[in-house]
Amino acid sequence: MLALLIDLFFPRMCVFCDTQKTLLCDECKNQKLEYYKTQFCHVCHADSPIEMVHSKCLRKTNLDGVIVVAHYNKYAKILIEEMKYNLYFALSAEIGLLMKRKLLEYDINYEVAIPVPLHKFKENYRGFNQAELLSKAVSARVDNCIRRTKNTKSQVSLNREERIKNLKDVFELKHQINYKSVLLVDDVMTSGSTLEECAKVLKNAGVEKVYGLVFARGD
Ligand SMILES: [Zn+2]
Ligand SMILES: [Zn+2]
Repeated sequence: MLALLIDLFFPRMCVFCDTQKTLLCDECKNQKLEYYKTQFCHVCHADSPIEMVHSKCLRKTNLDGVIVVAHYNKYAKILIEEMKYNLYFALSAEIGLLMKRKLLEYDINYEVAIPVPLHKFKENYRGFNQAELLSKAVSARVDNCIRRTKNTKSQVSLNREERIKNLKDVFELKHQINYKSVLLVDDVMTSGSTLEECAKVLKNAGVEKVYGLVFARGD
């Protein structure tokens, strides 16, 4: 009923074109987004068509693989921005669906989806965490178990080394966990240092497998 009313007063239209009744029409979904076709290794950033991470790279990371749906092109950027600032609930379902579809290509088990936390003040300002919305779209079981210990500087203006330093020990668990295998979810990754730091916290807590899932990856 509520959905019906919302559609009545705010008719849906594709974010990119005039197609009605959808926020992301099939044509734009297929033509504007550039999907990852080959698995990439999040450690050396080269293709890794057989393994999720090259075995030689695995000892340098706490992540057992990162799954990326699309390249962070200008359309992916618009989708993420629209989700964050305008159409978040409805659009997070669409983006979440693409993430869920991508997951089907992989033979991995996970007990729970865990959102990468936002800076506390940002979450308060916007009132929600988009990674949590995506987690809910992807998995029936979500545990918001990681938090930031302090407000790190925004990662955007920093180079790779500064990013890693900026993130050192800024994540911690809110409560004890007892998972063997989890899926860490975020909207966008760049260097992967945020996912890496969250994965470290989870592995330290005894989780055996930590997989990352993001919608888009930029350089
Ligand atoms: Zn469209
Ligand atoms: Zn590698």
